[in-house]
Amino acid sequence: MKRLFILLFLLPLMAATSWAAGRDTYTVIISLDGLRWDYLDTYDVPFMQQLAREGVKAVMQPSFPSKTFPNHYTLATGLTPDHHGIIANSFWDRDGGVEYSLKNKVTRADGKYYGGDPVWLTAKHQGVKTATVFWVGSDVAINGEHPTYWRDYQTESEKIDFQGRVDEVLRLLQLPEQDRPHLVMAYFEEPDRSGHAYGPLHRLTRRAMEDLDRLLSLMWTRIQMLPIGSQVNLIITGDHGMTSVDPKRFVDIDDVLPKHWYSRFCNDYPTLIYASAPQYVDSICDALQGVDHIRAWKKADVPAYLGYGTNKNMGDVVVLPDVGWLFADKPSMKQLGSHGFDHTAADMQVGFRAIGPDFKTGYAKADRFRNVCIYPLLCYLLGVTPSANDGSLDEVRDMLR
Ligand code: AMP
Ligand code: ZN
Ligand code: ZN
Repeated sequence: MKRLFILLFLLPLMAATSWAAGRDTYTVIISLDGLRWDYLDTYDVPFMQQLAREGVKAVMQPSFPSKTFPNHYTLATGLTPDHHGIIANSFWDRDGGVEYSLKNKVTRADGKYYGGDPVWLTAKHQGVKTATVFWVGSDVAINGEHPTYWRDYQTESEKIDFQGRVDEVLRLLQLPEQDRPHLVMAYFEEPDRSGHAYGPLHRLTRRAMEDLDRLLSLMWTRIQMLPIGSQVNLIITGDHGMTSVDPKRFVDIDDVLPKHWYSRFCNDYPTLIYASAPQYVDSICDALQGVDHIRAWKKADVPAYLGYGTNKNMGDVVVLPDVGWLFADKPSMKQLGSHGFDHTAADMQVGFRAIGPDFKTGYAKADRFRNVCIYPLLCYLLGVTPSANDGSLDEVRDMLR
């Protein structure tokens, strides 16, 4: 009798304090590449406004650098790029003596570059199924493993258009219960593609965003009509923002550094410079001090707020151009928009909307939150214990019911 009493007393307490939200809900997270935060306020996107009224509206801060590969893999692992290893879209692998690049099929697909524990593996190891419809890292065998269901970007991304990706999300949510993933992560190349080509404020970038709004509105309507419709959470967010660039806002590396001082530089945001010999590290850094429109640091001196500089593959010198500027050996003639700048800059911030049984209704989050918090949030929604990460559920708990 006494035992029964203790059990009856403890059970509700245990339920209330448990880490898990429970696995009776499903979560769909959509990444819209280059979803600058203010597109959701200034463009004609009624579905995004509906989500703000009926769910949660927030602004999310990317991690540094505000690039696609580093940040998608941060969303998946809760680790900053400096900690998970994808420190830029391209960087020099000091041990392997090769350049890792998202454009190089071999290095991009090599699991050794992808550190940390992506949410699909955290879940899998705790018996929870997940699916990705293209997500950086998910088509790479990380410690030999993938999500339960995944797609290969290289061979399939051109065949499965945006409508096809929505159809795939719906198909996954309709699998028999024992096969159904509790987390579906889907990736869309827009509005990044238009943002680069035309700039963030161009009518064609606006149109790309408005098309996505209609597509995702129809997706949500179809999800709601499923038997599990009321159990589905939807998160719409992205990897970084976008700012206007101009070929004239360009600092030429050849004007400021002799070529023999460095063996290579990875010409991305930021620019990672690898010295040809240790004695040139100081020379490079000294030569770059006082150059207008850039900031340069030895890797050990990168300011703490950037959370960058400790990874073994880091350049000896890190060069960060001012927002809208480029430091390279030639100006980029093809782009009117870009990103990768200081991750705290206004234009680099990312839009965020969430709706569903685990989220509050009509809640506008006052402060921006860091994107390293998405991983603990997803783990909470899945009811799995997160691995060590740089985020915190406490930073986003206010959004939850
Ligand atoms: P960026 O805007 O330079 O940071 O890179 C964005 C590009 O990354 C997009 O245009 C995509 O084509 C590409 N991309 C996104 N996800 C993947 C992936 N999983 N595998 C390969 N490339 C990808
Ligand atoms: Zn991107
Ligand atoms: Zn981009």
